Amino acid sequence: MERPSCKVFFAKDPLKIVRAQGQYMFDETGEKYLDCINNVAHVGHSHPYVTKAAAKQMELLNTNSRFLHDNLVQYAQRLTATLPEKLSVCYFVNSGSEANDLALRLARQYHGHQDVITLENAYHGHVTSLIDISPYKFNQLGKDSKKEFVHVAPSPDIYRGKYREDHPDPASAYAEEVKKIIEETQKNGRKIAAFIAESMQSCGGQVIPPVGYFQKVAEYVRAVGGVFIADEVQVGFGRVGKHFWAFQLQGEDFVPDIVTMGKPIGNGHPMSCVVTTREIAEKFGASGLEYFNTFGGNPVSCAIGLAVLEVIEKEDLQGNATRVGSYLLELLVEQKKKHPLVGDIRGIGLFVGVDLVKDQQKRTPATAEALHLIYKLKEQKILLSADGPYRNILKFKPPMCFTVEDAKHVVETIDVLLTEIEEATGMKTGNDAPTNAQCKIKANEGSPQPESANESTSHLNGAACRQENGFYPEKHSVPSKTIRT
Ligand code: PMP
Repeated sequence: MERPSCKVFFAKDPLKIVRAQGQYMFDETGEKYLDCINNVAHVGHSHPYVTKAAAKQMELLNTNSRFLHDNLVQYAQRLTATLPEKLSVCYFVNSGSEANDLALRLARQYHGHQDVITLENAYHGHVTSLIDISPYKFNQLGKDSKKEFVHVAPSPDIYRGKYREDHPDPASAYAEEVKKIIEETQKNGRKIAAFIAESMQSCGGQVIPPVGYFQKVAEYVRAVGGVFIADEVQVGFGRVGKHFWAFQLQGEDFVPDIVTMGKPIGNGHPMSCVVTTREIAEKFGASGLEYFNTFGGNPVSCAIGLAVLEVIEKEDLQGNATRVGSYLLELLVEQKKKHPLVGDIRGIGLFVGVDLVKDQQKRTPATAEALHLIYKLKEQKILLSADGPYRNILKFKPPMCFTVEDAKHVVETIDVLLTEIEEATGMKTGNDAPTNAQCKIKANEGSPQPESANESTSHLNGAACRQENGFYPEKHSVPSKTIRT
């Protein structure tokens, strides 16, 4: 079987996109698509303020961090100002993978430990060191693909996971699982270097960990000399609305030891960053091994990074994420009442997941239906993805300039398509199942924002996240036979 090195979205009928602006992409015939998935074009595709900053600096100079440059200093100051004080040392790199790989080096150098605790379904990058700690990937390689130094903790998923929304304290229960892993590794003479998790699991199924989980995990991990790495590659830079960083949803009493950033940081320009504490950075430096990165922190990347931060602030994109995200959630919750296919709605800001199920009680993932819906949406010129271990979760992470009109348009289209699918498959409409307690909407406040950050859910293991690179398998087992719409 032929295995191309490059996988495209909608393999049977791929799109050729020739330009983009804001939240819209245009193909070679001028057809306009609404982009609901691109969290890289964070402040909007081809944002003029960002492209101008890039061009201006490129015309003047591009070098590397061997030379002093104001852009580097200003950017580091500006970026660390968004973080808790303790996180004060930046390493500028070029991709999310590079950031996470460096984070692992920092963690291992800190106390000379090697082992890593990661979450079920996690994806942290494409380089060897990260495939090793990404169950989402290594599970695809078969049963014995997990390395000895890797330990997998249950995903803190209160919809499909081990402890669900009816558990009195899922945060402690999930953290206790990590504690058990630590105790077990210690018995075997192994030493934990790090616990790594996305602040909200994205390709793992839009999972928002229950509040208090990270605090407890950090306590257990630090007690044995490990560090807490928060991967904000997908979810950082104000996407959650109320906070600049998604880990802040856990509360002010939680500060990771290392934060990794990527995707939205350069609005499409390849750059990324690792931020850590002075103590960890000093231990890293003390190894005597100099750290140099040819492109990391170059004046052009820093000019772009600065421009992105300025646009987020000037255009109040965090405020927009809160307002539009709330409205989107509100509309989707209405869909849940109406459609038996909608099992759970979860999200915060412009990070929203719709969990499609074939059976409300059993929560059977509606994988084929989700994929069918994605293809049908594309016909309606809307780009959305289905992700998670079962690829049944509709995943919203649009550019932050997404509007209420966009939200309305997408949900109205989804409504029509879900009705068609339900009619074709004989599913009864009018969903009586109670709304997941975790996605409760504050009544009468005009805000469908979850009451706390633990309003979410997620999924079990599996081998998924192929969508990550925009890949839909050519042979999806969906429609035509069972669903005729
Ligand atoms: N971490 C997370 C959470 C990611 O989703 C990704 C990429 N999708 C990465 C790290 C790796 O980033 P990159 O592809 O820029 O190397």
